[in-house]
Amino acid sequence: MSTFKAPKGTYDLIPPESATFLAVREAIAAPLRTSGYGYIETPGFENVELFARGVGESTDIVTKEMYAFETKGGDKLALRPEGTASVLRAALEANLHKAGNLPVKLWYSGSYYRYERPQKGRYRHFSQVGAEAIGVEDPAVDAELIILADQAYRSLGLRNFRILLNSLGDRECRPVYRAALQDFLRGLDLDEDTLRRAEINPLRVLDDKRESVQKQLTGAPLLRDYLCDACKTYHEEVRGLLTTAGVAFEDDLKLVRGLDYYTRTTFEFVHDGLGSQSAVGGGGRYDGLSEMIGGPALPSVGWALGVDRTVLALEAEGIELELPAVTSVFAVPLGEEARRVLFAKVTELRKAGIAADFAYGGKGLKAAMKAANRSGARYALVLGERDLADDVVQLKDMDSGEQSAVAIAEVLTELRSRLG
Ligand code: ATP
Ligand code: MG
Repeated sequence: MSTFKAPKGTYDLIPPESATFLAVREAIAAPLRTSGYGYIETPGFENVELFARGVGESTDIVTKEMYAFETKGGDKLALRPEGTASVLRAALEANLHKAGNLPVKLWYSGSYYRYERPQKGRYRHFSQVGAEAIGVEDPAVDAELIILADQAYRSLGLRNFRILLNSLGDRECRPVYRAALQDFLRGLDLDEDTLRRAEINPLRVLDDKRESVQKQLTGAPLLRDYLCDACKTYHEEVRGLLTTAGVAFEDDLKLVRGLDYYTRTTFEFVHDGLGSQSAVGGGGRYDGLSEMIGGPALPSVGWALGVDRTVLALEAEGIELELPAVTSVFAVPLGEEARRVLFAKVTELRKAGIAADFAYGGKGLKAAMKAANRSGARYALVLGERDLADDVVQLKDMDSGEQSAVAIAEVLTELRSRLG
């Protein structure tokens, strides 16, 4: 073991489990790729002010969880705690919204950083795959995103997840509700921190996980009763489209989520096998965010799904993804000359698109065949001195154990036909 360990709250992805992570990322991205979303990649850090404004000054993310630092050059930066603000910043900077075809639909995949108290499902470095549809106010695009996330989870075989749905209103109706909620909260027995939060962002108090707070919240005014007609109609349309698509959801009138910028449609995906870190993903509409970071009015909607917790959800449901073996052919040379000939053959197979690996390190037959087994390869190519003299190689089917001599020049053709 080395003197060093992975930093607190982080972990390494190593084979074979790392293959599951890749497959989960790919499964989440797959429905997006075929629905008009283009891939975007932004830097791992940004101007700290982007997150302060974009995520919200009163959020836990900004006040407690951000890795903020000053560079030698005096720039104030932060490791990205989430994706939306960066993606919108990049889209505005590249003028994607001016190309005349809104919505701009983008997806991303990457690492995010939050200084949190590490526990199962909660890390300081974690992975998300996210999607954003920028620049239109259309309930169908809200529905599309929820449907695509549902499709992604289902394609992985997940069943025990639920979709929680709510509307947070807009700049017309939310302020009225906000005031009513504040009035209600002022009458409760709350600690100083929570009272302060009630003044800055009262909706977030609804999201408080503590039993002592939740108990007092029964009877709190609900946003649903304050929604303006436009928000009501919009929300009913989203609900109707989901129902028509056969996507089940639960109305959760207290769902607010931790970010300040959400408006109208808000949703969260929860998995019931994960204990207290039950949210596997979430998102919503953020009609005001563009203006908050200095852009034009661009009503938008998006989500981010956590890869780490999705992998934990698979474990909780006992799902093992069927990942095809990476290596199709494993080459086993016996002797120096065989090594050169077979190495050239492996290179040829790889160029032809056949996944091939090689027994390195001068292993004997027994150890080399063990390595072939471990690789999961369907076929082994064994080349000994007598084969060399006959210009053939032994092609062994690793499942049946059957072995036959194939002319060295014919190996590629033979493997192509066998592997289909
Ligand atoms: P939570 O309420 O659990 O703190 P959140 O509201 O902070 O979640 P979001 O900002 O909505 O989470 O991020 C979307 C998803 O990213 C979450 O549903 C979760 O799967 C994942 N995620 C967020 N923070 C972490 C973390 N610290 N470690 C692992 N995954 C995380
Ligand atoms: Mg959080």
